[in-house]
Amino acid sequence: MRKRLVILGGGESGVGTAVLGKQKGFDVFVSDKGAIKPQYKEVLNDNEIEWEELQHTEAKILNADVVMKSPGIPDKVALVEQLKVNNVEVVSEIEFAAKYTKSTIVGITGSNGKTTTSLLTYHLLKDELNVGLAGNIGDSFALQVASQTHQNFVLELSSFQLDGIRTFKPYVAVITNISEDHLDRYDYKFENYIASKFRITMNQTEKDYLVYDADDKVIEKYLKENKIKASLIPFSIERKLEQGVYIDNNNIKLTIKEQTLTMPIKDLALEGKHNVKNAMAAAAVANLLKIRKSTIRESLSNFQGVEHRLEKVLKIQNVQYINDSKATNVNATFYALDSMQVPTVWIVGGVDKGNDYAELLPLVNEKVKAIICLGSDNEKLKYVFNGTVDVLVETDSMEEAVKMAYKIADKGENVLLSPACASFDLFDNYEDRGRQFKEAVRKL
Ligand code: ADP
Repeated sequence: MRKRLVILGGGESGVGTAVLGKQKGFDVFVSDKGAIKPQYKEVLNDNEIEWEELQHTEAKILNADVVMKSPGIPDKVALVEQLKVNNVEVVSEIEFAAKYTKSTIVGITGSNGKTTTSLLTYHLLKDELNVGLAGNIGDSFALQVASQTHQNFVLELSSFQLDGIRTFKPYVAVITNISEDHLDRYDYKFENYIASKFRITMNQTEKDYLVYDADDKVIEKYLKENKIKASLIPFSIERKLEQGVYIDNNNIKLTIKEQTLTMPIKDLALEGKHNVKNAMAAAAVANLLKIRKSTIRESLSNFQGVEHRLEKVLKIQNVQYINDSKATNVNATFYALDSMQVPTVWIVGGVDKGNDYAELLPLVNEKVKAIICLGSDNEKLKYVFNGTVDVLVETDSMEEAVKMAYKIADKGENVLLSPACASFDLFDNYEDRGRQFKEAVRKL
């Protein structure tokens, strides 16, 4: 009898898994409690896959042999708990699809820098390898596995996707850094979230690699207390390493086994300390996948950057406007402020996720000329930063925030949107927030 594959969530990963499952001979049923987008319905219909929306028909779901749960659905949902009680295997798209490919896999996770590092790594590999980019970015991994076009994959992996793996094993795993995030999904225990990130390496063997930030205290502590089978490839901007990637005389130096590579930091396309780290991680991966040194250097220097991540928008009257809307936590904003080289008018605020803004005080004192609080509730920001800068104003309109910044900024200075907060108070999501910022800047 055909095995029954039930898919919870009819989004990018759900529909991709449905198509792959159908191709592999499963009896597939897709169920979404919300509405399924028309383009996805079309794919499901074209592939003769049964689906439902706006409901979960439990009887059909509970008798599955295997369930693929979209990363957005928490484990705590009653239906998912019931599946576990019934001993039904619940996996993520990554776990399901990886079983059907022999491609070499690079898996990239971390609290910040996943997308940037994944795109940069893809950029370094793509000239010499047939490589696909998937996970949290672009077309679904499962769909790309179904079409069998790539011999290599770079996968951006969130902790939610890692929670749903059992046997998944990347050849190279990357952990960019770990700081508190998404704790609502981890019983408010940081150690649970850390353990989730390290699942990326749990099935690796001595022949595989773990690339990680050796300056990150959380990662170092975990590595001291836990045995990891993979070969460790650390990177650091603080100290020299015998093996790994580090800084020497303003150069990035890579030493992995007998391989070496040197690249001046000034030649990197992306600015900021955090991006030096992202470049180190990407270079290590490229080296492990045997990309030529000249290609690595060239690609690190001509990478175009990523929208909403320290994205330079426009220079108006010699003031640089920078969109860092993707900075949805304090750590990301820390690196944004750190990379500012001239006095900066800082637009900050949104939905506070229990933020500790005090970490930013030294950088604000050093780099920030004025603060514009942009959110529906700015009280905490005003409380923490009151007295640190001459000008601290507030608004709940992006257009007004940008106009205020325009008035305050002098020639040679920056205006930076780096909210340190989620965007859902005034915007649909961080992309919407970033786009509104750019529109307002262009209207000036
Ligand atoms: P993610 O996909 O993990 O959310 P992104 O690459 O989208 O990461 O970057 C998110 C935010 O974090 C941006 O504001 C970016 O400037 C900042 N950032 C990027 N890389 C790092 C890093 N290595 N450490 C800290 N912050 C980073």
